[in-house]
Amino acid sequence: MSHPVDPDPADLLRTRPPSPLVEVDDDRFERYGVRLLLKRDDLVHPELPGNKWRKLAPNLRAALAGGYGSLVTFGGAYSNHLRATAAAGRLVGMSTVGVVRGDELADRPLNPSLARCAADGMRLHFVTRSAYRRKAEPQVLAGLLADAGAAGAYVVPEGGSNALALAGCAELGGELRGLTDVAAVACGTGGTLAGLAAGLGAGQRALGVPVLRGGFLAAEIRALQAAAYGGPRGDWALAEDFHHGGYAKVPVELDAFAADFEERHGVPVERVYVAKLLWALTHLLPGGTFPPTTRLTAVITGPP
Ligand SMILES: *Cc1c(COP(=O)(O)O)cnc(C)c1O
Repeated sequence: MSHPVDPDPADLLRTRPPSPLVEVDDDRFERYGVRLLLKRDDLVHPELPGNKWRKLAPNLRAALAGGYGSLVTFGGAYSNHLRATAAAGRLVGMSTVGVVRGDELADRPLNPSLARCAADGMRLHFVTRSAYRRKAEPQVLAGLLADAGAAGAYVVPEGGSNALALAGCAELGGELRGLTDVAAVACGTGGTLAGLAAGLGAGQRALGVPVLRGGFLAAEIRALQAAAYGGPRGDWALAEDFHHGGYAKVPVELDAFAADFEERHGVPVERVYVAKLLWALTHLLPGGTFPPTTRLTAVITGPP
């Protein structure tokens, strides 16, 4: 695997121009009078694409301003967020520690995602599922960080969603002001939707498509907005029931749909999040969720 030449770290932290917004012709949408636009956040940074850059950049600025030398964060064995944090640490010259769910993984060869984290210099610390689940409890967290050798590190929460991350994602909403009626995004932790909704202007609404089962996400988004802003912000809703069985489940019909979308529009479709978003929008059309003349923007949050 060849690494691109490391860009100037300041470049990672600098304000970037808005990511491209492109309208595409798609007869499935045109039939309902809906205009489909793609917000190409997958192009925002070569190594920290999409919402990972939006969420991490403000945290990196804060960590550097606070004089921290290392970052610690949390994730499962296939976490995009762990990978992004490892890359970010390498790019800005901070050491990184990843607390990984599942101590049974410690004795096995690293999967490609974790191997990439390690190649970027991340130290991996495997913990039991029960300890991982309880990491919101201050005592448990302090113990985990001490065991991981990360007691003085800047803590980025699981999925990277904190108040600074919401501020970064609000900039995504700001880039769409006046340019769309609905901005739709796939949701893991919901941090991207929470910030996006806050950044949109009056009359615009955000729609989230959860990729995990559970129905717990609306409460988490309200909690994230309360922590960041002191209360609810923006006009947002969730379209549940498009998770296709749960996180990282990609049934053959979803895979075929994504391949067809790639062929029609020449845009690579990431399967864990973006494919479920595009599928949801296509399948919501007959129900009248989007009245004729709606400008509907799908946020392409990352590359495959
Ligand atoms: C991490 C990720 C998301 C989920 O973002 P949240 O803020 O956790 O909801 C969506 N899309 C892609 C491509 C991602 O990598």
